[in-house]
Amino acid sequence: DATLHLGVRAARLGTRYVLVLAQDHTESRRLDEVRRDFIANISHELKTPIGAVGLLAEALEPAADDAVQVRKFAARLRTEASRLARLTGEIIDLSRLQAADALHQPELVTVDQVVAAALDQNRVAAEATGVSLVFAGDSGARVYGDEALLVVAVHNLIANAITYSPPRGRVGVGVSRKGGLVEIAVTDQGVGIPEDDRDRVFERFFRVDQARSRNTGGTGLGLSIVKHTVQNHGGEVKVWSLVGKGSTFTIRIPEASEKPLTAPIPVTGA
Ligand code: ADP
Repeated sequence: DATLHLGVRAARLGTRYVLVLAQDHTESRRLDEVRRDFIANISHELKTPIGAVGLLAEALEPAADDAVQVRKFAARLRTEASRLARLTGEIIDLSRLQAADALHQPELVTVDQVVAAALDQNRVAAEATGVSLVFAGDSGARVYGDEALLVVAVHNLIANAITYSPPRGRVGVGVSRKGGLVEIAVTDQGVGIPEDDRDRVFERFFRVDQARSRNTGGTGLGLSIVKHTVQNHGGEVKVWSLVGKGSTFTIRIPEASEKPLTAPIPVTGA
């Protein structure tokens, strides 16, 4: 098989042991491809806002005496600048998440607090479109993890649910505990996701509807960040959806056991 190159080395140690070192070059080649694709995607995504900033700057000069035009161009420059800031921020977040297999220093995190913080961050956006946010919290569930990363993940799911909801739609967020797992579910009554695209929405820069996503300021990275964060927490993210009816995204993460993983450090002295 031309795609599979196994470098195998064997050495005889004494008379009884044979040491075999095998390295799978297929995996490193695949990772190289993933990296190259990511960089190509990034360049493509950055070109649009950078091009727009250049054009707006050019248009500003001849319009310098026209206060109305200047204000219009300045507002559009601000929009493009914040788009660039969001895009670069998310690219950095995603690269960090992809580089780490696991979390460095997991801490005990209260899941209801994570969800409450993510909901708070989305209230203004929900009010702007008349979407109501409904939270069934108080699960008492805890996980070992990184609170800030988990807030970003849940925030992304709620932000999407609002973006793809009809005006005055309802977004429900629930936390439950099932068989040693904590489940966070975000349900909307929005446009839904066609079956063929359901797995692909977690890919970097994938959007079901390019124009719609861009118009709403979407980067196509939100769900990829969710997927990697949840994986780093030893969990998984899934989606159920009916086109025209709505979608439910669920995050499942192993629940923290009652006992801490490490013995508490005894307090000595004052
Ligand atoms: P974006 O910034 O485009 O929202 P995401 O990675 O968060 O990027 O989502 C990828 C794509 O998945 C979106 O462009 C959209 O087409 C689809 N999507 C995500 N969440 C929902 C949802 N709740 N309802 C319908 N489509 C969704």
